[in-house]
Amino acid sequence: MFSTTRISNKLCPNTILKWIFKNQEGKGIASLASLSETHQLLYKTCRDFAEGELKPIAAKTDREKLFPKKQIEEMGELGLMAVCIPENVGGTGLDYLSYAIATEQISRCCASAGTIMAVQNIYVNAINNFGNDKQKEEFLRPFTDGKQIGSFSLSEPGLGSDASAVSTKATKKGSNYIINGTKSWTTNGFESKGLVLFASTDKSKKHKGISCFLLKKTFPGFFVGKKEDKLGIRGSSTCGLVFEDCPVPEENVLGELGKGFNYAMITLDAGRIGVAAQACGIAQASLELAVDYASKRNSFGVPIAKLQLIQNKIADMALRVESARLLTWRAAHLKDSNASHSKEAAMAKLAASEAATYNAHQCIQVLGGMGYVSDMPAERYYRDARITEIYEGTSEIQKIVIAANVFKEYGV
Ligand SMILES: Cc1cc2nc3c(=O)[nH]c(=O)nc-3n(C[C@H](O)[C@H](O)[C@H](O)COP(=O)(O)OP(=O)(O)OC[C@H]3O[C@@H](n4cnc5c(N)ncnc54)[C@H](O)[C@@H]3O)c2cc1C
Repeated sequence: MFSTTRISNKLCPNTILKWIFKNQEGKGIASLASLSETHQLLYKTCRDFAEGELKPIAAKTDREKLFPKKQIEEMGELGLMAVCIPENVGGTGLDYLSYAIATEQISRCCASAGTIMAVQNIYVNAINNFGNDKQKEEFLRPFTDGKQIGSFSLSEPGLGSDASAVSTKATKKGSNYIINGTKSWTTNGFESKGLVLFASTDKSKKHKGISCFLLKKTFPGFFVGKKEDKLGIRGSSTCGLVFEDCPVPEENVLGELGKGFNYAMITLDAGRIGVAAQACGIAQASLELAVDYASKRNSFGVPIAKLQLIQNKIADMALRVESARLLTWRAAHLKDSNASHSKEAAMAKLAASEAATYNAHQCIQVLGGMGYVSDMPAERYYRDARITEIYEGTSEIQKIVIAANVFKEYGV
């Protein structure tokens, strides 16, 4: 188990290409034989865990908006709350392909757990990438086992897609920065004990005046607003945060002053691989449910799986999820190779989120009336899928990122 071994052996650099060209073995996921042993073990561990521990609680988690604390702690024990963090600071020491594989398997059974996990990994990754040793000991290591949860707060009531428009202010006073402002949409905001926060230290410099700070929930002047009542991923909390003269010690500046915008963009590039993987999980679950139902439901004297209009939907669903997974794994592979991956992560997120929405929509159609009621998970997949087209950059923003990179590649 990952909890005891924390596997981090060197992963085969040609994994993706081998995976693409080798034969596939049904059940929606291509042959795992060409993945490294680490990836295969991780896949099986996460799949078994999600089937056994998350699938049975996913409907209740959604219905009652319950944070799945026990299961999240178990995911922490498996090493899933700090997948790409080096072992010397308490992480699992795996790569982004591992992160993509794990996030898909968790989200396939419970997209809320997938969201909580993905944002926790964003939180720890930001600190690992830009923090100093002291900050890692205080804000990263205690969060690697899932017992403490972290958040990443960039969005504000007046800013979403345009991340440069941060209006939360951080004003230097003695050895502290005094934070004033309001943040919105903070995932894990209700449960989190640690926060990566973006605030402006010099408004006149626009995005070059944005800095990044590490906060604890216990800091005076740090207030958590109400939990949003959401369409989907209802087991994860999403909250507004208010800062009223909240003092943050200057040693809690993450990285360099004025580099916050860059840090946010770098972190979100990698974070999009996680959202893409989450979307693949929802798309895959939708496909599997549709296939199962189609093989059992009879109409006009035959299983509906024999009807070409149903087959057409199944073919489209399989095509979309498998294409999206390849894009996701390619983006992860590039990230693991330290290669540029901004365009590829945006493509993966765009394709996978559209696959999730499409597949969940078609899944409901294949199930007919049973797709529309909460006795079956299809309607939950449909609600959960929708967020993947919005957070960590809407689909429109992904297209802007893709087009900008394409023009650059073509020298335009
Ligand atoms: C459940 C949930 C969880 C979230 N979690 C977090 C979190 O943990 N941390 C965090 O910081 N944020 C979080 N967010 C915020 C999320 O990232 C933003 O909602 C998202 O980036 C979109 O911003 P917005 O809602 O302000 O939409 P807007 O930016 O107002 O966009 C509205 C519409 O205009 C379009 N649009 C905007 N600009 C352009 C453009 N230049 N060209 C074309 N179209 C454009 C958008 O695509 C969208 O369709 C979360 C949001 C939700 C709903």
